[in-house]
Amino acid sequence: MLILDCPNCGKRNASEFRYGGEVHPRPPAAQQLSEAEWAHYLYMRPNQQGVQSEWWYHRAGCGLWFLAERHTYTGQVTRTWLPENPKSDD
Ligand SMILES: [Zn+2]
Repeated sequence: MLILDCPNCGKRNASEFRYGGEVHPRPPAAQQLSEAEWAHYLYMRPNQQGVQSEWWYHRAGCGLWFLAERHTYTGQVTRTWLPENPKSDD
């Protein structure tokens, strides 16, 4: 069973959360990208096996977006933390 530690509520079953995807920072000069570069940014992900940073949303709890460091093969979550600029859920 996957347990996530919400920075606001504490440890909860993963069924209370929604996966928001891996952390994928926006390119600094997005307006200057070609269509191919923009498509690559939007659709291509490394999909690597190992530890990655991910967005998670506590949908059945406090409604907070936060970040988690999780191993993609074992599912083990090593840490969670709040982002500096919280993600909007609109
Ligand atoms: Zn929470």
